[in-house]
Amino acid sequence: MQADAARLNTALDLGAATARIEAQCLLQHVLEVPRSYLLAHSEHALDEIRQEAYDSLLQRRLQGEPVAYILGEREFFGLSFKVTPDTLIPRPETELLVELALEHIPVRGQFRVLDLGTGSGAIALSIAHARPGADVMAVDTSEAALQVATENARRLGIANTRFLRSDWFSGLAGQPYDLIVSNPPYVAAGDVHLSQGDARFEPISALAAGADGLDDIRRIVAQARDFLERDAWLLLEHGYDQADKVRSILQQHGFTGVMSVKDMAGIERVSGGKLQN
Ligand code: GLN
Repeated sequence: MQADAARLNTALDLGAATARIEAQCLLQHVLEVPRSYLLAHSEHALDEIRQEAYDSLLQRRLQGEPVAYILGEREFFGLSFKVTPDTLIPRPETELLVELALEHIPVRGQFRVLDLGTGSGAIALSIAHARPGADVMAVDTSEAALQVATENARRLGIANTRFLRSDWFSGLAGQPYDLIVSNPPYVAAGDVHLSQGDARFEPISALAAGADGLDDIRRIVAQARDFLERDAWLLLEHGYDQADKVRSILQQHGFTGVMSVKDMAGIERVSGGKLQN
């Protein structure tokens, strides 16, 4: 186990602590036991079949495949989400977007939320789970992602979310929303980040957005007006160095109360504003 962690660290430059946790996660998956069991039985010998299964998972990880895709799931906002290479892997910093959204949604009463580019459904379903009285609409342009999101709703027993195939607002019509949230693609097309780590295995359509990474954010902000109730907020996740630009895009399109909020790493990660007319 220690030797495997060391191999992972060497191959992927994860740092010793992360490498150890990842090796444990793979073993745990093969043994189908909770982490506490693994820690208590550190010398547990694997039978031949399980050893083979573990070795094959370890090989996949050594090739760089993300742990979340190998295990087929990732925890987000206290819930377990199925993830596949058709969906972005939910990031911890995106929990900030959910927390901010929940601040706007009353615990009781009618409230309509729209999640643009839902992917695995992590944001929409976390909101729907925390606010069972809200109606959540989740859209994505990828049919494969919508299948994963629908499966997540079913597995989590969440009934107050609907899914629709739509390229941003294109498939939507009718009544405006009380809140719009999105974690759109926002990485600049040439960013080295796209050829490193987990991102290499994730859908490029969920990550990259034009020369400066802001193409989709510009589209969303420009089109949001027809889909927002009076005084309703639009909240957008964005890249570590994009807060200034996102705020000015929002202001150019008439949003007020425009602000940015820092994530746990102290980086301005979510910006938003509301439309008063
Ligand atoms: N936060 C992701 C990353 O760093 C990007 C997610 C996105 O573009 N929405 O890879």
